[in-house]
Amino acid sequence: MFGFSLTKLLFTAAVIVLIWYGFKWLRRVQDERERQDRERLKGGSTGPRGDPDAETMIKCPTCGTYLAAGAPKSCGQPDCPYPG
Ligand SMILES: [Zn+2]
Repeated sequence: MFGFSLTKLLFTAAVIVLIWYGFKWLRRVQDERERQDRERLKGGSTGPRGDPDAETMIKCPTCGTYLAAGAPKSCGQPDCPYPG
């Protein structure tokens, strides 16, 4: 009776520890993701850890076309402020 109880207790403790560590790991992954998101927002796409796939876009005030902020090109409208 005692041996069965101890096994059950140990098993329950092991399950609790596993769940505990699972949650800890999950929270660490989420924290890391949030930290990366904050750094990306703070540094923008020009930051050292910025996402290379994301490029800052600016809107042309004349035609409304979105252009790459790094090298904006004229859309062809005569009063477009960007160089063609
Ligand atoms: Zn334009």
